[in-house]
Amino acid sequence: MIYLKTAEEIELMRESNQLVSKTHAEIAKYIEVGISTLEIDRIAHEFLNDHGAVPGFLNYNGFPNSVCISVNDVVVHGIPNDYRLQDGDIVSIDIGAYKNGMHGDSCYTFEIGNVDENVRKLLRVTRESLYKGIEKAIAGNRIGDIGHAVQKHAESFGYGVVRELVGHGIGRDLHESPEVPNYGRQGTGPKLDTGMCIAVEPMITLGKRFIKQDDDGWTIRTADHKPAAHFEHTMAITNGKADILSDFSIIDETLKLNQK
Ligand code: MG
Ligand code: MG
Repeated sequence: MIYLKTAEEIELMRESNQLVSKTHAEIAKYIEVGISTLEIDRIAHEFLNDHGAVPGFLNYNGFPNSVCISVNDVVVHGIPNDYRLQDGDIVSIDIGAYKNGMHGDSCYTFEIGNVDENVRKLLRVTRESLYKGIEKAIAGNRIGDIGHAVQKHAESFGYGVVRELVGHGIGRDLHESPEVPNYGRQGTGPKLDTGMCIAVEPMITLGKRFIKQDDDGWTIRTADHKPAAHFEHTMAITNGKADILSDFSIIDETLKLNQK
């Protein structure tokens, strides 16, 4: 069952998702060599609470922390801990915000210090593939058109597209129907229509696409231990068109200010 949202519900979703992006921007002020992922989790937790939201992932299926922080070869679902970020790391921070009965969900991969040029390119292409997918998320198209666009772009650079984890419908629940894979065939899958809200979230690897889970039951890594990137937007289809509800520009701006 795909729940279509009213214009009013989409505005509430926008508020939750803008708050997620503002939380990323808050983290961007502090993220640097030496900060621990647990310290980042605390910044996010306080910022969400101070803005009237509950962290969307806290206790979700028993997840122990407020945000998922995935470093280098960790693809998703990394548990914040006392690891201190090092020069050359990449860090995917996946944040959920639950406010006014609606979920926000967005992920951004940060670069710490001097990151290898090959890895920076992986981040750039992963982000591009997200927007290629979103371009296809318009009324009348199908879910498969999104995945096809993501996959085509990422694989044209020789990267791996993780298949076991997918994007999803989102709204009153964090994960709703339909699933939004990052691979697929054009013209297949559920039809897209005005009022649909989905999270599009390519998880792209520098090496092979295969993954494995740590004994903690959460952490998902690349099987070959090569780095992985993850960018995610929550979007709605408004008047037939893609309407991105989260916002990377405020994160990018904050990172630029840091460099001055
Ligand atoms: Mg997410
Ligand atoms: Mg998601």
